[in-house]
Amino acid sequence: MTTAPLQINLNGFLNELKKKFVVIDCRKNILAPKQYLFPAQETAFNFDIKKSRLKTLPPIKPFILFGLPLRDLEAITRLDEIMSRPNKNYYYFRRRSKTTIIGLTDEQFNIPPGGDLILQKLSPKDFAVMPVTAKGTVLIKKMALARPSKNIPASQYAENKTMPKLRLLLQDAEMLKDAVAWSWKNYPQIWDELAKICLGCGICAYVCPLCHCFSTEDSMDIAGKSCKRCQNWAACTLPEFSRVAGGHNFHKTLKERYYNWFYHKFARSYEEFGEPQCVACGRCQAACPARIDIEKILINITQKYKIANRA
Ligand code: SF4
Ligand code: SF4
Repeated sequence: MTTAPLQINLNGFLNELKKKFVVIDCRKNILAPKQYLFPAQETAFNFDIKKSRLKTLPPIKPFILFGLPLRDLEAITRLDEIMSRPNKNYYYFRRRSKTTIIGLTDEQFNIPPGGDLILQKLSPKDFAVMPVTAKGTVLIKKMALARPSKNIPASQYAENKTMPKLRLLLQDAEMLKDAVAWSWKNYPQIWDELAKICLGCGICAYVCPLCHCFSTEDSMDIAGKSCKRCQNWAACTLPEFSRVAGGHNFHKTLKERYYNWFYHKFARSYEEFGEPQCVACGRCQAACPARIDIEKILINITQKYKIANRA
């Protein structure tokens, strides 16, 4: 849903917003905003052993995520879908339902990729305001914003250049899926090489706005009066990730585990959701201690795949 655009001064808008709401400014965060919807550690329940009953979880108060770039808006739109299947993830949507999301961009776009409200840069201080959802429209009313501007001038700012080549590859998601799946048996050298460099630390999964695997852990307090269950972020490159009861590990080697990270993102996700689990945000590349660049890896794999499959 879109209405006539409004124009605001960014600092003034943010100051007013903070007076009225709980605002989390995401502009300088290294971790993706998924951390506020799907925290690194989430208490699923507390159990009072003496009373033999569950303790009620504290309620989530409404909050605003401010300053998300278009890539992160798109990632949350996809995460909403991922977390809806096969059943709605109770903990994710418990927070998500209390969240209002404000995007901030200097990029041009035709269709808003997500969020409730998008602020588009017009000059260093001035931004056009575009409501995307009913929640965004309500927020505009609550903020009593200035009267609508007649036109939105074209943005004078260059398009964000984060991983532009990967962005292009993502547009042909089916080819990307085929190339990644093909590479395991037909181009194993690349996975052998990467397994020598990768540290298996899991950081790429933690910083990724779309990685969403978690493990479940039960613990008891030392007096034995209560216990709790926690959901903790997990990463498929970690050695224990694929170990099951009885001790069998489906992905014993780092080569298998690192390939699995790609396979899940670019092949399995395409089969399940029709889209890869990547928005080319660049976080995995920036945070990797081994300086692995997935844009270069995917360009390499797709080039080899195209050569091998030339008619
Ligand atoms: S962050 Fe880098 S080193 Fe760590 S698991 Fe990911 S690719 Fe490997
Ligand atoms: S670029 Fe890396 S961190 Fe960003 S969405 Fe893709 S896989 Fe995740």
